[in-house]
Amino acid sequence: ALEARSLTQRYGSLTALRGVSLRVEAGEVVAVTGPSGSGKSTLLHLLGGLDVPQEGEVWWAGTRVDTLDTQVRATRRAGQVGLVFQHHYLLDDLTVIENVLIPSRLAGQRDEARARDLLARVGLGGREAALPGVLSGGERQRVAVARALAARPATVLADEPTGSLDRANAQAVAQLLVNLAREERAGVLFVTHDDRLAAFADRTLHLLDGQFTESVPALL
Ligand code: ATP
Ligand code: MG
Repeated sequence: ALEARSLTQRYGSLTALRGVSLRVEAGEVVAVTGPSGSGKSTLLHLLGGLDVPQEGEVWWAGTRVDTLDTQVRATRRAGQVGLVFQHHYLLDDLTVIENVLIPSRLAGQRDEARARDLLARVGLGGREAALPGVLSGGERQRVAVARALAARPATVLADEPTGSLDRANAQAVAQLLVNLAREERAGVLFVTHDDRLAAFADRTLHLLDGQFTESVPALL
């Protein structure tokens, strides 16, 4: 499980998160919605250990990680948390399969058979040796999904993973991410502006002004 306890994050005089707590269990799919500026990306950066909170704690698999040295946390992240962002962040000089192998190499696994299996499951069997530049946007985002799961992380964090895609592609990629994570018994927390994508989740959390609200804000 991945857990956040009372996260508070400020940027100067602006408070982006106000004491946010949550827990994502193995196999559970959670959507996070909320207006622009409500703190969604800030929350995901803290949960993924890309940034550390000014107040509060982040725990991966029963270990507190926000107090770890940055390098130690980065190494641990590879096996605990998979990340998918709005833009894929594939390395253009590496082949598709080498991109998928990045986290498993960091986690000391480098499991090529698994990378091939994941690529086949996202519909990219046979494209292992392609460079990302020749793929479509939807295909690149499917490589990012395979990469996020490569090192068998407990949790996948996705920040508008389909935000750069058209509607049909967005739906397909979101469905793929959720199906794959369920098959792998990984938890998923994904940010979306799209109610049709939030419907794939077991539950939805609404952020408003740095806090979770009980109901969907009227301004959404
Ligand atoms: P969007 O839907 O537009 O992606 P969001 O919910 O992801 O929005 P955040 O990116 O988490 O929102 O930002 C929350 C608030 O914190 C915003 O007011 C933003 O301007 C501010 N903020 C975020 N990162 C920084 C930063 N590095 N420095 C200063 N302010 C920041
Ligand atoms: Mg954001």
